[in-house]
Amino acid sequence: MGRPLLNRRLAEFGTTIFAEMSALAQRTGAINLGQGFPDTDGPEEIREAAVRALRDGRGNQYPPGPGVPELRQAVADHQRRFHGLTYDPDTEVLVTAGATEAIAATLLALLEPGDEVIALEPYYDSYAAGVAMAGGRRVPVTLRPHEGRFRLDLDELRAAVTPRTRLILLNTPHNPTGTVLTRDELAAIAELACERDLLVVTDEVYEHLVFDGEHLPLAGFGDRFPGLRDRVVTISSAGKTFSYTGWKVGWVTAAPALVSAVRSAKQYLTYVSAGPFQYAVAEALALPDAYFTDLRADLRHKRDILAEGLRTAGFEVYQPAGTYFITTDVAPLGEKDAYDFCRALPERCGVVAVPNSVFYDNPDAARTHVRFAFCKRAEVLTEAATRLRTAFAR
Ligand code: PMP
Ligand code: GLN
Repeated sequence: MGRPLLNRRLAEFGTTIFAEMSALAQRTGAINLGQGFPDTDGPEEIREAAVRALRDGRGNQYPPGPGVPELRQAVADHQRRFHGLTYDPDTEVLVTAGATEAIAATLLALLEPGDEVIALEPYYDSYAAGVAMAGGRRVPVTLRPHEGRFRLDLDELRAAVTPRTRLILLNTPHNPTGTVLTRDELAAIAELACERDLLVVTDEVYEHLVFDGEHLPLAGFGDRFPGLRDRVVTISSAGKTFSYTGWKVGWVTAAPALVSAVRSAKQYLTYVSAGPFQYAVAEALALPDAYFTDLRADLRHKRDILAEGLRTAGFEVYQPAGTYFITTDVAPLGEKDAYDFCRALPERCGVVAVPNSVFYDNPDAARTHVRFAFCKRAEVLTEAATRLRTAFAR
């Protein structure tokens, strides 16, 4: 067998950093602030809605390809209620197996081999793999620390567009930096897309987890930029908003031609998934405003516990405006390499984190950046903060 089994497109992608670090946490018994998942489940009534659907035989057989009508309607209602966006549940909404499948199907549907995809770096790991599987070429535009936040350099973004650029892959609120793109940044992206005839795929799975400022969906700029609506694919999912990351219910909202293209790829990936959970998520999306406000307040409090702990321990903290994550710099601790630091961290103080360098094509931009997840119980975060302080504070 002279030829490697794993094909050339995927050769660079080994085990995901999340699987690697969760396994490390399990092996060592350390507190897992690596992989982003809550350590408590979401609303009880939504779990009960899933049980009811299972018992009543709703979704136990293949649901419709585009998703059950109740969920498509609920997604459309949600987009109108929170963002003032109008989508036809029959032609402009597609239910997927989490945002992950939505991203993969979108890239597989929209890219020709050799097309360039501009992605904000650091990027969520499935973007690079999705672009590779579709035969595309990723072109990173690096977010850099500036006045305490990771900022997009719009000139760099404009300069990255070439005649081969097919799409821009956005993520706001942004994993792992916690940056929330501003109105001006989003307007500039919308303008660029229209001017240069580009598609934009925007991953907004953390849309409800914004602590400072507000989440603005890119699709909302359609009024200012005619034609934008036909270029934007918006992706979200129930995992983060309802604290059921294992259910894997996601969705795409976009103009009919885009949804139809994405559906063409999606139908040969999973065809359909999560039948009974789709009904439960339809109910979740209709929860009262207080649910969403409380979720945000709870996570803001958790962010503050961990950020304070990390600062006291001597880490440089880039305060995240949203998401589950805090990016830190461990250089002030005398550390040189985030990956080495993360591998040794369980032994040193019983905590697991993730090195941001794995989210870069140019890892030099983040050699000493480490991500910590704060979607954990307050007492767990307090204990982690104590351990980090004990190990590192001078
Ligand atoms: N996009 C981003 C930015 C994420 O952080 C994640 C992981 N939580 C996903 C997509 C995947 O979402 P899902 O679990 O719904 O597939
Ligand atoms: N999105 C989660 C994170 O960034 C991980 C999801 C996964 O393991 N694929 O931690």
